[in-house]
Amino acid sequence: MTIYQNLIAGEWVGSDATKNINPSDTNEVVGLYADGTAEDTRNAIAAAKAAFPAWSRSGIWERHVILKKAGDEIMARKDELGALLAREEGKTLPEAIGETIRASQIFEFFAGEALRLAGEVIPSVRPNIGVEITRDPLGVIGIITPWNFPIAIPAWKIAPALCYGNTIVFKPAELVPGCSWAIVDILHRAGLPKGVLNLVMGKGSLVGQAMLDSPDVTGITFTGSTGTGRRVASASIEHNRKFQLEMGGKNPMVVLDDADLAVAVEAAANSGFFSTGQRCTASSRLIVTEGIHDKFVAALTEKLKTLVVDNAMKTGTHIGPVVDEKQLKTDTDYIEIGRKEGAKLAFGGELITRETPGFYLQPTLFTEATNQMRISREEIFGPVVSLIRVKDYEEALATANDTPFGLSAGIATTSLKHATHFKRNSEAGMVMVNLPTAGVDFHVPFGGRKGSSYGPREQGKYAAEFYTSVKTAYTLA
Ligand code: ADP
Repeated sequence: MTIYQNLIAGEWVGSDATKNINPSDTNEVVGLYADGTAEDTRNAIAAAKAAFPAWSRSGIWERHVILKKAGDEIMARKDELGALLAREEGKTLPEAIGETIRASQIFEFFAGEALRLAGEVIPSVRPNIGVEITRDPLGVIGIITPWNFPIAIPAWKIAPALCYGNTIVFKPAELVPGCSWAIVDILHRAGLPKGVLNLVMGKGSLVGQAMLDSPDVTGITFTGSTGTGRRVASASIEHNRKFQLEMGGKNPMVVLDDADLAVAVEAAANSGFFSTGQRCTASSRLIVTEGIHDKFVAALTEKLKTLVVDNAMKTGTHIGPVVDEKQLKTDTDYIEIGRKEGAKLAFGGELITRETPGFYLQPTLFTEATNQMRISREEIFGPVVSLIRVKDYEEALATANDTPFGLSAGIATTSLKHATHFKRNSEAGMVMVNLPTAGVDFHVPFGGRKGSSYGPREQGKYAAEFYTSVKTAYTLA
């Protein structure tokens, strides 16, 4: 089997490799991917540092052309790359193709942004002096990504980093190197100069840690767990380095008595269970007012009965497998915790056997949960949802906000008054009205508050906040 290698200083290198396993069929090896070392990482950082002066001064047309080419190739290969994604991560083929299209759109968006770089010219408070405010690239950006969006998250970090003139050392999650390798290959062939984008696949404890430890990494953008996020933060503060963190969520979806039942059930089923609940924006807490509670539980349970859990590549599958054995154990441990805490298992909770050996788990709904239970406070990151009954809107809002996280929050209601009040008073970075908490646009800011995020927003033009440093220049006329 070919080994997909790391890209360091424009050369494909590495002979030690790890198997990329399909969670829908653990007999299938998706590919062999290089296992980078701390030394590889240091070489990649040195290459990115050496490439920075020229790339930071490169023309905006050159950046535009490369980003556009990458976006076009990803779109042209959406079915093939979508299949690779579905095989390595386990989300369903339609979800995986959708994510691939999104990655392409992100490259298209930042190809456009490269042509719209601008500053401000402002008169000084002193006579005969002009003030210019511009954005400089940061330098070498370390990109560390998780496994749940194997193509979209790398795209939304790599595209702006390049657009604003930075060079990159990119470390994808161990479980899903395939899509990352593919987009690095696409960008390399699109004409990026040597060393501008370096790929080091390998372990977080080696490759990721070597990035955290390097004084030559000027910025780190990280999406992953809260624990690793904290390490990124403390190492970055030590190096006086800019950093951006996207971590967990325990996103609430409030359902009020006046909700359109069908809309509420659709939104809850989608954001609670699709993509196997493995989205940081998943609705893992359903907060439902008394008047609609029983009807909503009955309708949601009926809906869950219709969802097919099976091989991600199979037509008709709604929910693919859990990503790996470790995550499956976390999910089943939390199901046990929920039972012991006294929540009622209203649906699911069992492992499923399918034609191909994989990590199949039923969508699992706990009702009669309280917001203080561990299943309602801690991020599970699986298809396991707590449903909490509340008296009225005021209690629903207070419960929604009573969480260490603050990424996304939703409300299902036909009341303009409550929708407006919720948008204003939700303590989340993203608020959805009559929509799933997951599923966001690619051209507007993404990010959260409290324990979910740290630093500037990602995506859209707001991405410039992280990937650039503002310079104020004064000139005597
Ligand atoms: P998850 O539990 O979702 O895998 P992690 O935070 O462990 O979340 O992983 C997110 C990313 O962080 C992965 O690319 C992983 O390899 C990387 N990572 C893990 N440990 C470290 C570390 N000590 N330093 C830097 N990166 C790390």
